[in-house]
Amino acid sequence: MRRGTRGRPASGGPAVLIRNVDVEGYGRVDVRVAEGRVVEVGPGLGGRTGVDGHGGTLLPGLHDHHLHLTALAAEAASVRVGPADVNGADELAKALTGGAPGEWVRAVGYHESVAGKLDRAALDRLVADRSVRVQHRSGELWVWNGAALRAAGMDDAGDGRFWRSDERLRGRVPSTPLDLTGVGRRAAARGITGFTNADPHPDPDLHTILRPLPQRLTVLGLDPAAPVKIRLDDLTLPTPDELAERVARTRPRPVAVHCVTRVQLLVTLLALDTAGAVTGDRVEHGAVIPAETVEWVRRLGVTVVTQPHFPVERAAAYETDVHPEDRGHLYRCGTLRAAGVRIAAGTDAPYATADPWAVMRAAVGREGPEALPPRAALGLFMGAPLAPGGPPRAVAPGARADLCLLHVPLREALRGLSADCVRAAFVDGRPITG
Ligand SMILES: [Zn+2]
Repeated sequence: MRRGTRGRPASGGPAVLIRNVDVEGYGRVDVRVAEGRVVEVGPGLGGRTGVDGHGGTLLPGLHDHHLHLTALAAEAASVRVGPADVNGADELAKALTGGAPGEWVRAVGYHESVAGKLDRAALDRLVADRSVRVQHRSGELWVWNGAALRAAGMDDAGDGRFWRSDERLRGRVPSTPLDLTGVGRRAAARGITGFTNADPHPDPDLHTILRPLPQRLTVLGLDPAAPVKIRLDDLTLPTPDELAERVARTRPRPVAVHCVTRVQLLVTLLALDTAGAVTGDRVEHGAVIPAETVEWVRRLGVTVVTQPHFPVERAAAYETDVHPEDRGHLYRCGTLRAAGVRIAAGTDAPYATADPWAVMRAAVGREGPEALPPRAALGLFMGAPLAPGGPPRAVAPGARADLCLLHVPLREALRGLSADCVRAAFVDGRPITG
């Protein structure tokens, strides 16, 4: 039996009655589930059997629309060397030499504010007696020390800096143990029943690798119906016509274009104007959306899969790294919604928090017009995997029984927006919380 949006059968789930729950659009009801679907919603469906919801809200399960699952699962076997974890070269060296000599060290979360720009020579000064590789917080750069390069037979690889080279480096390092059980369990406890993996070059065996996850899985670029991810880089930026040709080649499939700068967004919008946008096209991140382009984004009908928590989590770095002209346009949320642009959110874990509730709180706490009302913040994680930002999924007859049960009524949950209010999660009607 296969998993995922592509392969997981909708049928075969157990028959379950979830009693005494609050369902938006219905009020206090019972919900009957069978064969992986909601089959009946209404008051007094079935005596005392089943799960008693105690008046808590039953919602569609949350879907994290953008994250990197193998990198997240590798975190348990990694050393954290971000600005929140270490400060200065001495602490960095200590963190990198914490394990047994001879083992490969995988360090993550690095930012230049810790100990400056890293390269092979700088790392060798910190650690020479074991193989070390350090990933930049952006997830786009690995720096290897001399011992690591020699161990991998790549002693001639220059300064040890590998920019966007995950595909090339795959197979060069001993495989990292993946804590998929932990990732699945923590996500379930947060009410997450589905993930969209957003690696630019997904491992062709990703569905097999991720099989231990109980959540439903969509993989950009791999699943036949899912968008194809296109990663742009200012240094190698295609012309709008070149990008339009690339988009045209992926049709009828939608595209998910990585846009973190002003010029990347403009090239993408021009290309979509030329190629024609289709349902399911997405802008990943939309880090800089100038005010004058908001209406253009709406007209194209693309969904912006945003990270409203980045300006909060990365406030210090943005003070120095972001051009002053761009600061007013960072990770728009409220203004996009007000303009009728389809928006959805992904945590981008492990490069930011894996907790969608923290993302919702950040969206509500944004300054001025970018703030979202709490229900809209919750909605960022409620769209369908292949139509994020589209019509919200609902708990209603015929819907998939991927569900999130809260301890409390919705109004109370929206006040705190905390994962603490999650009581249980179900995929195809099967409980995935312990
Ligand atoms: Zn990402």
